[in-house]
Order: sequence, then C-alpha cells, then structure tokens
Amino acid sequence: MTNFEERNGSATDNKSPSLGGEIIVDNVSKIYGSGPYATEVIKDCSFTIPRNKLTVMIGPSGCGKSTLIQMIAGFEKPTSGSITMNGEPITSSGKDRLVLFQESALFPWMTTFENVMYGPKARGENIAEFSKAAETLLEKVGLTAFRDKYPTQLSGGMQRRAELARAMINKPEVMILDEPFRGLDHMSKELMWEYYASLFEESRDTNFFVTTDIDEAIYLADRLLIMTNLPTSTRKVLQVDVPRPRSIDDLADDKVANDIKIEVMTLLHEEAMKSFSRGSKAASDFLDAYSKRT
Ligand code: ADP
Ligand code: MG
Repeated sequence: MTNFEERNGSATDNKSPSLGGEIIVDNVSKIYGSGPYATEVIKDCSFTIPRNKLTVMIGPSGCGKSTLIQMIAGFEKPTSGSITMNGEPITSSGKDRLVLFQESALFPWMTTFENVMYGPKARGENIAEFSKAAETLLEKVGLTAFRDKYPTQLSGGMQRRAELARAMINKPEVMILDEPFRGLDHMSKELMWEYYASLFEESRDTNFFVTTDIDEAIYLADRLLIMTNLPTSTRKVLQVDVPRPRSIDDLADDKVANDIKIEVMTLLHEEAMKSFSRGSKAASDFLDAYSKRT
C-alpha cells in the first residue's frame, strides 16, 4: 500500500482517519503598530481547532480572520496569549500547516498535473506513487480531462479545484483555507463546496476554513466559530449536527441548518451594528448585504 493510501484509507476499507493536528488558540491578542498608531485587531481570543473535524470561522469582513490565520500559520506572532499545535507552541511556519489563500497559487508555466505534483516533487518524494495520488485527486475534483491544460486555459472554478488538489496532495496535518472561494459566481461556488466537502469527508484531516458566507459556513462545518467585530474574539461556537454527505438542496429545508442560519445571522447582525454605530462604511455595506438575505 502506498503512503498516500495508508493515510487516506483505500476506497474499499473503512479505516479510522489519520491523526490530524489539534490547534489551541488561548487568550490571544494582536496589536499592529505602536503608540498613537496602535490598533488592536484581536482581543482575548480563544478557540480550539479539534482534530479530524472541519472547523469553519465566520466573521464580518475586516474583523481579523486573516490575522488569526497568519498567526496560526506562524507568519505573525501574537502580542500576548499562546497558540499551540499538538501541545507545542507555534513559533514559525511549517509544512504541518498548509494555507490555501484566495489568490491563485498555480504556476502559469505548468500544466494542471504538473502543478498538483509540485509539492511532492519539490520534496523529492516517490514520483510514481504520488503520480497515482495526483490522478486520483484530479478525478475527484473533475479535472482529469484538463490534466494537460495550463492555468490560463481553465475557468476560475477549475483553477480553484486544481489548487485544492495541489494543496491536498501534501496531506498537511492541518489544512487552512482563507476565503478560498470568494469571487466565484454562485454556481461555481456551490460546486466547489461539494468537491471540497467530499475531499474532506474522505480524508477527515483537520481543516480550518475561514469565510464570510453563511450558506458556505453551514454547508461545510462540523463546528462553527462565530467571531465578534473588531477587535475580534470568539462570540459563539456552534456544532452543526447535520449528517454527511450533505445536499445543498436538502439543507435549505433542514430545520437544524435553518435554526443555525438564523442564529448566525442574528449574531453577525449584532456585531455589524456595533461598528455601524461607530460609523464604519464597511459595516454599513455588510449590513446591507445581510439584510438582503433575510
Ligand atoms: P479579515 O481577514 O477578517 O477581513 P484582516 O485580518 O485582514 O481581516 O484585518 C483585520 C484588521 O487588521 C484590518 O483593520 C486591517 O486593516 C488590519 N491589519 C491587517 N494586517 C495589518 C498589518 N500588517 N498592519 C496593520 N494593520 C493590519
Ligand atoms: Mg481576510
């Protein structure tokens, strides 16, 4: 059995998932700048990203979600508080934590297949073994027919799927995604949710997914972290106890999902109101967008 199959379980067996990483954010604050220019972005923020679950963070735009990701990834340090992975303090970036950003990371001079193989090749892994894994992943994200195309020959949604495959082949202990489907049209987005959810359901690795989209959050999450407005802390943690695999259509009529949706909307609305009362343009745009949905 290949290394890849060992960690994933083959299609026919039903092994327990690999032991993904666990991240604990404990009472973290982050201040950018100093003196009169100091801005507190994160304040006394605590939450857990448990092993082998899909934890989704939702919060208003500009509340500090990417800042939290920067610290979890090890690119930035908290001003106070601690972040640990499997009990060890995070002091730098590492290949155990892989961040998929919103911006395209595909190399334009490589084909889809070559892009997916980039990580394993760069690490000098067994090419035959990982080629098989790459083909399987490409099939799972519906890109087999596009394996020899270059990024410019792919639609936006296809590029995002290629990036998912390119990240997931590396099997990081924790996969971190920062609004990865932002900017896609609604239909492509729904398709991405399905592809991504099925990849997660198969691997059951620890995933941390950040979004501002309520429907996306509820469709994907095992566990939902709802953040306050600036300076950010955890407002509420909800379990999304809806069986997998989920169907987007069924979810629209699901009582549990709809109750969660109303609760999340109410909380985010309250958070937006806080900065609205401070006169923020971003908050009033946010309120507009959300009141259209109700
Ligand atoms: P989100 O990802 O939730 O939209 P961010 O984490 O990107 O929010 O930003 C939160 C706040 O922190 C914003 O007001 C932003 O201007 C500020 N910020 C982010 N990075 C820096 C930085 N390097 N220096 C100063 N301010 C920053
Ligand atoms: Mg962000």
